[in-house]
Amino acid sequence: MSSAGGGPRGSVRPERHVQTGRGGNGGSSSTRTKSAPPKRPSSSSAKSSVDSDNAADAIRVRVAVRLRPKNNEDFIEDGDFTSCVELQPEAKKLRLKKNNWSSELYKFDEVFTEGASQRRIYEAVAKPVVESVLEGYNGTVMAYGQTGTGKTYTMGRLGKDDPSERGIMVRALEDILASISSLTDYVAISYLQLYLESLQDLLAPDKINIPIVEDPKSGDVSLPGAAVVELRDIDHFNELLQFGEANRYAANTKLNTESSRSHAILVVHVQRSVKVKDENEGASVVSSMDDLLAASNHVPIVLKSKLLIVDLAGSERIDKSGSVEGPMLEEAKFINLSLTSLGKCINALAENSPYIPTRDSKLTRLLRDSFGGTARTSLIITIGPSARYYSETSSTILFGQRAMKIVNTVKLKEEVDYESLYKKLECQVDSLTSELERIQKIRQDEKAKIERKLRKQEESLAETKRTFTTKCENLEKENDCMTMEIKKLMEELNDERDQNKILSGRIVEMEMSLSQNKQQQLENSTYKKALSDSTQMYEDRIKALLEQVEKEQARCAYLELEMHGARQVVANNENSSKMQENGKVNELQKELHKLKEESRNEIQHLEAKNSELLSEKDLIYEELKSMQEKVMQEAKHRRSLEDEILKLKKVLSENSAVQLERGTSMLRTTSGVGGGAIYLPRTGKSRDTIPNQKDTISKIFEEVGLSNILALLKSEDLDVQIHAVKVVANLAAEDINQERIVEEGGLDALLSLLETSENTTIHRVTAGALANLAMNGSNQGLIMNKGGARLLANVANKNDDPQTLRMVAGAIANLCGNEKLHVKLKEDGGIKALVGMVRSGHADVIAQIARGIANFAKCESRAISQGHRKGRSLLMDDGALKWMVTSPTTFSASTRRHIELAFCHLSQNEENTRDIITSGGIKELVRISQESTRDDIRILAKKALNSNPAFLREIQ
Ligand code: ADP
Ligand code: MG
Repeated sequence: MSSAGGGPRGSVRPERHVQTGRGGNGGSSSTRTKSAPPKRPSSSSAKSSVDSDNAADAIRVRVAVRLRPKNNEDFIEDGDFTSCVELQPEAKKLRLKKNNWSSELYKFDEVFTEGASQRRIYEAVAKPVVESVLEGYNGTVMAYGQTGTGKTYTMGRLGKDDPSERGIMVRALEDILASISSLTDYVAISYLQLYLESLQDLLAPDKINIPIVEDPKSGDVSLPGAAVVELRDIDHFNELLQFGEANRYAANTKLNTESSRSHAILVVHVQRSVKVKDENEGASVVSSMDDLLAASNHVPIVLKSKLLIVDLAGSERIDKSGSVEGPMLEEAKFINLSLTSLGKCINALAENSPYIPTRDSKLTRLLRDSFGGTARTSLIITIGPSARYYSETSSTILFGQRAMKIVNTVKLKEEVDYESLYKKLECQVDSLTSELERIQKIRQDEKAKIERKLRKQEESLAETKRTFTTKCENLEKENDCMTMEIKKLMEELNDERDQNKILSGRIVEMEMSLSQNKQQQLENSTYKKALSDSTQMYEDRIKALLEQVEKEQARCAYLELEMHGARQVVANNENSSKMQENGKVNELQKELHKLKEESRNEIQHLEAKNSELLSEKDLIYEELKSMQEKVMQEAKHRRSLEDEILKLKKVLSENSAVQLERGTSMLRTTSGVGGGAIYLPRTGKSRDTIPNQKDTISKIFEEVGLSNILALLKSEDLDVQIHAVKVVANLAAEDINQERIVEEGGLDALLSLLETSENTTIHRVTAGALANLAMNGSNQGLIMNKGGARLLANVANKNDDPQTLRMVAGAIANLCGNEKLHVKLKEDGGIKALVGMVRSGHADVIAQIARGIANFAKCESRAISQGHRKGRSLLMDDGALKWMVTSPTTFSASTRRHIELAFCHLSQNEENTRDIITSGGIKELVRISQESTRDDIRILAKKALNSNPAFLREIQ
């Protein structure tokens, strides 16, 4: 359009100067110096090479004409009238018929019938321009024609429903996007509307009156205010185009105008990386990074080019000479100054006028560097077939002709047959092409669909893989953990097995030692049996000897009687035969004397033997006593062994995870504190193992009689006293004997023995006997009234022998179980003595003390709850409370339970609060409430804690 047009910008592409001749109405041809036009692409349509022999054609504005098919209006208005245009596409000619006798023939670069496919239009009209744009030249494709003839159809059709209908804009962008490299190249668009000399941005509707800026040096035209959107892909372009169309529609509605009066201008900015070998060889396009790298020894350059696709406003108000006609003049002047100006420029260019009025309008200013000049330009003029619009069609055709600047048409030899065949084939090709495009589009859609599906599947596969891997990892971790745990458990199991083995070994040892013990006991009892048998035998023999002594004595008496008789006879005969019989008497006296002597001797012998037997009996008794003690010790030992076995069995069974009904046995053995144990001097001896001794004692009891036995308690002989008290203690263990013992003065005797004796054994056994008697409620009162508690306290204070203390503690413990006696028991020093025995430290003694205190506390608690008693506990003094609070945890379980129980009972009494707090008992109470092995004790402790606000305060 202008001689001032510069070469491609932004590049170092060398310019080639060629002489270009312009065709005119046989007029002068001008010589212009301009940049080299792009060479004809080899891929362009065959028909585009019609003028390939003419170098000048290479840069001439190429003009094609397209006839729109008849529409409904045409059919209605024109009926069967023939169209005013007749096309000769094979000759690229068009005949415009004014009437039946007048017509004109025009030649164009391309002539498209109403059936021409959009694809063919694109390939013939736009593709060469697109290719030259890709090579770095500016290019323009314009559609000119009357409103309703198909400009927008040709240029802007999106072809959403029918892909074969896609217009030049879409196809051009498809080609451009397919040809560039996304790595190195760049494609962006601006989309504008020119209306009433105002340039509006269709991609950014707020922008109106966008200025057109011209570089005074290069002559480059730019629109600095317009939005330039870089394209991602063809879908993106379609979206933008649709968006722009919507804006165009909205803008036109707002301005109360029609799109036919505005120009739509699509500006495509293309920037490509190319390499040039040297100054003379020119640039060659690189399509990828690889090419760029391969061409690293070449000079890298960037080509910038611009493609304008212009859908012009309707040409109906412009007359054939390009000026506005008729009454619309004024309006048109303003409304479409641009189109008028374009017409004038075309005319001026066509006439080779020295002045081209490009500055008259915005459109011509915008097209200045694209239309003519260095750029390749294609114009498609659209016409309708109806004769009603003859003048508009004629004007359009003349515009096209001027644009072609060709007046004379080259005559071609036309072959009629060939022509009709060509026509027919072309129709077929067109319909097949459309069909092919449709199928291709469907295929593409399907392909895209499948690709999308594939991508989704791949994504889901990747996701599955990821989750699977995570799962695997988790499982592996878990597996590791499990293996570790199993290993640990196996180790623990092995440890436990080893421990079990050791424990089993110990049990076997223990059992062996137990059975040995049993064996020994069996032997002992056999030995005892033999002893008692032999005792019996000796007793029998003593009895027999005594009988014999009696017999001898009787015989002696008889002999004395006989002797007396004989004396009488002698006296009677003395007088008669004194002399004769003197000798005889002497003889008899001698004989008697002899007999007496014999008897005496025999008695003496028997008496010696008797005393011998008696001493032997004493010896046997002594032996029996020592045996009994031995058996007692062994039984004790055995008990402790049994206890240990029990413990070990418990541990073993716990370890082996064998279910153990330990609760029941525990409860059975520990429940109750008030029953009172039976205290035999032969403590520790199992009832089963001593039937013989018991039998012996009951035999003694039967034969000697209780009164005799009780009498023996006062014997001078200590041994006799000891044995007697042992027998009494044993008898006192049986309920049936207790009453008789007390009735016959046994209790008094025992108490006096306790008071008077200094002997430890006496103390121990007497205390045991009293403990036994104190199991009976009525005896308890008697014992107390007779000062038993005081006596027991004395013994406790004087003695340190654990067994004696154990008996004393047991006796006091039994007395503790009677609430009525509590005051006196305390007054007589019983409690103090009981607590004092703690010093012994012996487990058995401690057990009895704990039992006693538990008995006491429990009875006291009951009495208080029943209202029999009030006030502070009698256990508070004498150190009992302190001992309970600080008692070591090493005590046996049952002892600890007794202490805990006692303490819990004391804690129930509010009067004891201060003592418990000051003694630091709260901590112990809390501990019991949490740690005691007995539920009832824990409950008692919790009850005490929760019901006493002072305790609660202390806890906080
Ligand atoms: P313009 O832009 O020139 O005013 P349009 O492109 O809007 O005209 O076309 C007017 C009508 O004619 C539209 O409905 C369009 O689809 C139809 N039309 C135009 N050209 C063709 C063609 N070659 N084939 C089929 N229909 C067409
Ligand atoms: Mg239109």
